[in-house]
Amino acid sequence: MKDFILKMTASKWNYYLSLCVDFLTAVVFLGLSIYYSTDIWASLGLFIVGVIFFTFLEYAVHAWLFHKNHPFKVFIEGHAHHHQNPFSYDAMPFFMSAVIASFFAWLFHFFMPSSDAFAIVGGMALGYFNYGIMHHIMHRREFASNYWRYMQEFHFVHHKKPLLNHGITTDIWDRVFGTYYQWTEEDLKGIEKLKRVKKKAS
Ligand SMILES: [Zn+2]
Ligand SMILES: [Zn+2]
Repeated sequence: MKDFILKMTASKWNYYLSLCVDFLTAVVFLGLSIYYSTDIWASLGLFIVGVIFFTFLEYAVHAWLFHKNHPFKVFIEGHAHHHQNPFSYDAMPFFMSAVIASFFAWLFHFFMPSSDAFAIVGGMALGYFNYGIMHHIMHRREFASNYWRYMQEFHFVHHKKPLLNHGITTDIWDRVFGTYYQWTEEDLKGIEKLKRVKKKAS
């Protein structure tokens, strides 16, 4: 069983299926919120709150769970594997985002109406999907937009300096928590090996 799980979490099919499940989780939770709510605008507003809240979680998990020393080595080691193998297909089992989202919705419903909890969790799931897809593209494509190219360099600098620039979808939390690093041309040397960009046939 352990072997199967290890094999699965490194497989391509699990990786792509995870991205689909993340997106579906966002859609299902937003749908549940709209279904149970009397105010669609409240649902949409809280959905956006969830997306923003996720950007903080993205920072917190990456900076404090993956890159700080603590007894739960499995998180540190799992993430170290990505730093060494930027093109590997490591991902949690594909159903985990739906399970974790359900747990958060259950937790939140003690503090707010269920429809609000569904909306926030749906937004968090969309934030997670956005994180997953952006990180995937960062290592495999050139972005057209200046902002995403900036975030790509921001992330590649993190691969070279793992205690800095933890954000994937935004640099805001690095600026807030003092881990923002403005790179130089020198820092960008050697980043080519962090991307697998298909060369256009000429
Ligand atoms: Zn990366
Ligand atoms: Zn990292």
